[in-house]
Amino acid sequence: MTAPTAYKLAGVMGWPVAHSRSPLIHNHWIAEYGLSGAYVLLPVPPDRLEAAMRGLPALGFAGCNLTIPHKVEVMRWLDTVDAQAQRIGAVNTVVVAQDGSLQGRNTDAFGFIESLHQAHPLWRASTGPACVMGAGGAARAILCALLDDGAPSIRLCNRSWPKAHDMAQEFGSRVQAVRWEERHEALQGVNVLVNTTNQGMHGQEALDLALDVLPIEALVADIIYVPLETPLLASAKARGNPTVHGLGMLLHQARPAFEAWFGMRPEVSPALLSKALASL
Ligand code: NAP
Repeated sequence: MTAPTAYKLAGVMGWPVAHSRSPLIHNHWIAEYGLSGAYVLLPVPPDRLEAAMRGLPALGFAGCNLTIPHKVEVMRWLDTVDAQAQRIGAVNTVVVAQDGSLQGRNTDAFGFIESLHQAHPLWRASTGPACVMGAGGAARAILCALLDDGAPSIRLCNRSWPKAHDMAQEFGSRVQAVRWEERHEALQGVNVLVNTTNQGMHGQEALDLALDVLPIEALVADIIYVPLETPLLASAKARGNPTVHGLGMLLHQARPAFEAWFGMRPEVSPALLSKALASL
């Protein structure tokens, strides 16, 4: 019989949460590595978040992921929040420590930069300026990822100017806010272009962006993964730019969380990739 302590539980807490692909990813790894445990959906409404978090140690959870709408609110109920999660301003992973305390982390920046490095191993953010479209929640992780990978400068364009301006101020002198009207010209000489807006997502308009001045060798990344090939990626590919879709970020952000709970760093295998693709 398996010793009770060897069985590990984790899950994703959100409201709603049924759409989450995290169970597919983590349960794939549990099976692939022959581990004993399960990763479950945890539908928790906002007014039950505190109680749900406090219940994790008692229920024997190794931790959980957080998704909409809990990523920011959950920070109030944690014992510690690491530096990266504080910079991003949100927690997507909670680890229950040996003493039962709750530690908050954020693995989105890792997931994003890892997806770029895996798809294009020779590419580095340090070789030129970056341009980021959008200044919402996800953009914060993208800025951290690019800055930590050595981007010399980042042009941040957002439809609403105050958000771009305030975020650029917060992230320091390497990030400059650019007016939405100037987004097309902002692509001049960049090493990487990242779309973090919802434009191009299934059910939304395509991102209104002319790629004319974008260098042909610039990497074009979209963090959207439904559809896998957004109109932006299709246009970039058609003119010869290397591209990266958003599914890689989703898969790679799960790796450090799984390692924290299950004690081993998993890989994104071709089998997992095809399973995830089939779920889109
Ligand atoms: P969010 O906080 O709601 O931000 C949305 C962004 O889109 C804002 O910058 C917003 O600009 C912009 N936007 C909305 N409508 C627009 C329009 N008509 N024209 C131009 N810009 C527009 O959302 P988020 O959490 O950052 O998520 C953004 C996208 O990233 C979503 O598609 C999400 O699915 C995806 N995502 C993917 C991953 C992954 O693992 N691959 C992880 C997280 C998020 P304003 O400020 O002007 O409203």
